[in-house]
Amino acid sequence: MGELRSVRNQCPLCSHVFLAPHVGTYVTVGRETDLCPKFPGRQSDGSRRIRDSITMCPVCSFAASEDFSDLDLTFDERYDIEERLQEDGLLKVFRASPPPWLAFHAAEVCGQERGLRFRELGDLCLRASWVCRKEREHPFESTFQLRALRYFIRALREEGLYGRELSVTTYLVGELNRRLGNHREALNWYVNAERTLGDEAGRDASLAWLDRLISEQSKLAREQAA
Ligand SMILES: [Zn+2]
Repeated sequence: MGELRSVRNQCPLCSHVFLAPHVGTYVTVGRETDLCPKFPGRQSDGSRRIRDSITMCPVCSFAASEDFSDLDLTFDERYDIEERLQEDGLLKVFRASPPPWLAFHAAEVCGQERGLRFRELGDLCLRASWVCRKEREHPFESTFQLRALRYFIRALREEGLYGRELSVTTYLVGELNRRLGNHREALNWYVNAERTLGDEAGRDASLAWLDRLISEQSKLAREQAA
């Protein structure tokens, strides 16, 4: 397992200084079909690793996946984020005893105000859904899958994705649809994902794993749709 150490953080919003775990390198043993990393050992350890990729201020709930020292918020961003964090319904309810996914939700809220790309916001929600699965919080797993799905579709429509990011995102839209029970919709997106890989001859060898995954999951979705 990776080395776990605490690092000193200063909140870019309220200036509170606190220690938070920082994950170094860690060992994974493959990925699930929604690309959730598998870790050796207990599910809860894996959840912890994924959760540690987000830092959340214990005082104001500002959260981000970036290093806090790299963040420089403008006056307007500060104001808008502060307002959003104070008004947010889930934070109000859960702040006192935060469930494992809360930091991802906070990072999503802050990310919207910081103007993160839809692709990145989708990634935060996808990672939240992985944590929910590992922690057996199934209703929240679906909630985050649906949010990830919507962000990824907007990213595909509006952000001009290309190459690997285009292929992986298109595949994920299929896979999230399949996991949410929309099997026919999933099949359409797997076809789209396959198309992004280009013709057989010019295919990027580093994406052979994705090509295989698309075939396997299409087969599964066809069985499920029948
Ligand atoms: Zn703070």
